[in-house]
Amino acid sequence: MTVLEVRNLQKSFGSIRAVQDISFSIEAGEVFTIIGPNGAGKTTTLEMIEGLVPPDQGEIHFGEWNWEQDAVAIKKKIGVQPQSSAMFDLLTPEENLNLFATFYDKARSTEEILELVNLTDHRKNQVKKLSGGQRQRLAIGLAMISDPEIIFLDEPTTGLDPQARRNIWDIILELKKLGKTTILTTHYMEEAEKLSDRVCIVDQGLIVTLDTPSALIEKLTEEREVRLSFLDGEEAAEAADLFSKSLDSVARTERECTALKLWTARPEDTLYDLFKFTKDREYQVEQVSIREMSLEDVFIAFTGKEWRD
Ligand code: ATP
Repeated sequence: MTVLEVRNLQKSFGSIRAVQDISFSIEAGEVFTIIGPNGAGKTTTLEMIEGLVPPDQGEIHFGEWNWEQDAVAIKKKIGVQPQSSAMFDLLTPEENLNLFATFYDKARSTEEILELVNLTDHRKNQVKKLSGGQRQRLAIGLAMISDPEIIFLDEPTTGLDPQARRNIWDIILELKKLGKTTILTTHYMEEAEKLSDRVCIVDQGLIVTLDTPSALIEKLTEEREVRLSFLDGEEAAEAADLFSKSLDSVARTERECTALKLWTARPEDTLYDLFKFTKDREYQVEQVSIREMSLEDVFIAFTGKEWRD
């Protein structure tokens, strides 16, 4: 079931075209990640969907509902992770959750939320004494207090250390188990790959590509990168390079000193032929690896740009 559909969203700030043309639809229960470099338009897209920023053009539908006619109903259906500044620093996580709960007719129990975001042990500590990761977990808890169906998390892990990021991942996976739909933005490819059912890569206010992480990667994996290095110096690498170029399965090669990289659609065939060749010549292969493709490669392939967190 489609729970959200956006069509041709556009937003400019003066001469800056923050969002040029974004369309997608989201199914119930999925983790949908919008990923892109700084300034790609992720936050602006989310803020338009959340009803915080009016689009210049385009449509936003939550099923039959839209912001013009059904704002009250939509607000009950969605949960938005508040900025850290919206929390009360002198209150405890428990008190913040209790206070936010009073804003809604229906609220999940504070106990349950503290458990979900793993803050039960810190329930009585003032928010100002919490770590960055604990504050972010509380922010997710606050987004959950009204028991919404759709949760928006804008860069929930930015600036956190790897362990704190993983703790947030666990919560997002837990939300999925609860049947919630999560719309997430991130700079981190690894995060998008691990958590998402589908990933929407944006750059300069446009969708670069949108699909499941594995489908995006598969689009690139027709060719795999194989790396070899030789113990017998450059001569062996050069000979292997020449031999590789003569193979049908090899699309191209690159050589640097004793290291050889080659791109092949059939790694097994290529390696079989190549090892036969090196054995005949008695060259010693020091290392061989087939590189795993990642979403980072997808971004580079689609935009021609290097990825920077
Ligand atoms: P980041 O990862 O850095 O948060 P983002 O992908 O979320 O980036 P946005 O915050 O949506 O990108 O910004 C897109 C572009 O719009 C940027 O060039 C930004 O400077 C600009 N922008 C965003 N909000 C405003 C605003 N209120 N006024 C003027 N320009 C804005």
